[in-house]
Amino acid sequence: MTNILVINAGSSSIKYQLIDMETEDLKAKGLVERIGIDGSAITHTTIGKEKIKTVKPMADHGEAMLEVIKALTDEETGAVKSMDEIQAIGHRVLHGGEKFTQPSLVNEEVLEGIREYIELGPLHNPANIKGIETCMELIPGKPNVAVFDTAFHQTMPEHAYLYGIPYEAYKDHKIRKYGFHGTSHRFVAMQVEKILGRKDLRIVTCHLGNGSSLAAVKDGKCIDTTMGLTPLEGLMMGTRSGDIDPAAIPYLMHKYNMTAEETVTYLNKKCGVLGVSGVSSDFRDLEAAAEEGNEKAQLALDMFCYRIKKYIGAYAAAMGGIDVIAFAGGIGENDNIVRKAVLTDMEFLGVDFNEAANNVRGDADLTGPNSKVKILVVSTNEELMIARETKSLVL
Ligand code: ADP
Repeated sequence: MTNILVINAGSSSIKYQLIDMETEDLKAKGLVERIGIDGSAITHTTIGKEKIKTVKPMADHGEAMLEVIKALTDEETGAVKSMDEIQAIGHRVLHGGEKFTQPSLVNEEVLEGIREYIELGPLHNPANIKGIETCMELIPGKPNVAVFDTAFHQTMPEHAYLYGIPYEAYKDHKIRKYGFHGTSHRFVAMQVEKILGRKDLRIVTCHLGNGSSLAAVKDGKCIDTTMGLTPLEGLMMGTRSGDIDPAAIPYLMHKYNMTAEETVTYLNKKCGVLGVSGVSSDFRDLEAAAEEGNEKAQLALDMFCYRIKKYIGAYAAAMGGIDVIAFAGGIGENDNIVRKAVLTDMEFLGVDFNEAANNVRGDADLTGPNSKVKILVVSTNEELMIARETKSLVL
C-alpha cells in the first residue's frame, strides 16, 4: 500500500486528493473553502461512497486540516482507518524562483527558500507554507514534498527568460520570466512522449483553463513559456489581460484613478475575455452568447484564439518546427470551438486537423491524415503528477 496525500493550499482554501500510488487510482478528494471567513465548509468524497458536505467554522488552516484528517479517517465515509496508512504528502507550491528546479523534500532550508519567494508569489506562497507547516504539525513523521509550479520552466535559456531591461534588475531583484502551470505542462509533455513512444519531440503544450499558458518543450525540456514574472503575461485569459504594452499601465492608472496595486488587480481580475465581452470568463457562457449574436463575446473568443495561434507560430520558430500540439485544461480538454479556431488555417505549419474527431471531451487524437504535426488532447492531472514526484523522491 502506497497512499500519497496531495495538498493544494490557497489563502482561504485547501484542495486535497488521496492517491493510491500502486495503481495511481484516486481514493478520495475534497475541498475546504472559506477558511477564516463566515461559512467555512468541507466537501469530501471517498471514491465509491457518498459525497459529504459539512459547514462549520474553521478559523485557520490548522482547524481546516483537522477536518480533512477527520473526513479521510471517518469510519463510514472515510478512505483510510488512520493517517498511518498515508506514507507521504505532496504539496503544490506556486513560486520556487531560481532556487527550485526540482521537487524538494521539505526541511527548514526548503521552507526558507519558499519564504524567499513570497515577494514574487504574495498570494500563494504564504498559503503554501501554511499548508506544509500544518501537515508537519498535525500529521507528524511523514515526509512532505514541495512541487513547484515554476520548476519545469527552469530549463529555459537565458535569452528566453530575460526581459529587455538592465541586467542589474535581474541580478538585484530577480526580475525575469519564470512561467507557471509547470506541473501540468510537464505531465502533458510526458503523456505525449508515452503516447508516441519517443522523447525527441518538439511539443507545444497548451494548458487552457481559467489561467492559460503555452510552453515550448523540446526533447522533454521547456525552452519557453508564455507566463512571466507573474501569471499575468502571455495569453489572454478568463480574467487576465495577458500581454499588454507596459506603458499602457500608468496610462490606465491615470485614466481610472487607480493605484499600482489596484491596476494589477484590475489586470488580473477584470480583463481577459471577461473584460472584452462583458459577459463572463467562462467559455461555455461566452460561446452561448456568441451563438446568440453577441459580437463582443465573439470578439473575446477571436482574441483568445488568435493569441494562442500567434504563440504556436512563435514556438515553431523557436524550436525549428513542431511535431506535436497538445491541448489540456478545462478549455483545452472540452472546448471544440476553441480547438477548431486555433487549428484552422495552420497548413503552413503542416497541421491537418481531423475535424470529425474534434467533438470529444478528454483524451483524443485529432491528427488529420495529411498532418506532419500530431494533434492530441491530453487530460492533465496535476495532482497525480505531484503524487508521482513525491513518490519518486521519498519512497
Ligand atoms: P483552472 O485553471 O481553475 O484549473 P480549469 O482548467 O478547470 O480551470 O478550466 C476551467 C474553464 O474551462 C472554465 O472557466 C470554462 O471556461 C472551461 N470549460 C470547462 N468545461 C467546458 C466546456 N464543456 N466547454 C467549454 N469550456 C469549458
